[in-house]
Amino acid sequence: MAQRYVRVQNQEGIIYYGLLQISLDVQVLDAPPWLQGQPTDLNLEPDSYQILAPCSPSKIVAVGKNYADHAAEMGTDVPSEPLIFIKPPTSIIASETEIKYPPQSQRVDYEGELALVIGDRTSDCTPEEAHSKIWGYTIANDVTARDLQKRDGQWTRAKGFDTFCPLGPWIVRELNPGARLQTFLNEDALPVQSACIDQMVFPPDFLVSYISQVMTLQPGDVVLTGTPFGVGQLHVGDRVRVEIEGIGRLENTVTKR
Ligand code: MG
Repeated sequence: MAQRYVRVQNQEGIIYYGLLQISLDVQVLDAPPWLQGQPTDLNLEPDSYQILAPCSPSKIVAVGKNYADHAAEMGTDVPSEPLIFIKPPTSIIASETEIKYPPQSQRVDYEGELALVIGDRTSDCTPEEAHSKIWGYTIANDVTARDLQKRDGQWTRAKGFDTFCPLGPWIVRELNPGARLQTFLNEDALPVQSACIDQMVFPPDFLVSYISQVMTLQPGDVVLTGTPFGVGQLHVGDRVRVEIEGIGRLENTVTKR
């Protein structure tokens, strides 16, 4: 199994970055791993910590309509260049926590996505340079109030509610380019979304380069790479699970706010 990089909180509320062991112990690092954090002697046992989202970004830059079949289901063409937007860091929640359905919306959708974690300060770089700036990979759910997205004409409110960015549960450094992304609802065995990440229109290196020509990406920042075909509605009481081969599963429940 690939090394799993986690961020956890102990019972005193202290936050650590660490390595998740097969035993589910966490070996604590002295800094975030992308800032050259090194293993310490501190080891946390499974019942002594809670898993947090695996990084704490200054911003989340997301990409819309980056799979052709999803653009088609939204009734649009694939954009000729990446369509980017920002989700606030306050939208992030960990795996196994609750998405809060806001009273302002009647239509909240899941969007399973591959998330990139940036390891270096990244400004104005080429796709070739961007490759080395991607420190690792995790899973995201770009939860969206679809009715508000349509009504507002821009996406800040629809994409920005607290709890609208489940992220995690951990980061891995390597990913098979053909890895499959799947989203499941409740107990259904059949996925509602299923695509290989190499079906993206603009691949990760291109996206990071493109974004870096607009804004500086900081270590620990997150890029969401878009969702494939099959977006659909969440209801209060649902469980939604996004899986990516080689990473793991991100699972959250939906509750009323
Ligand atoms: Mg999305």
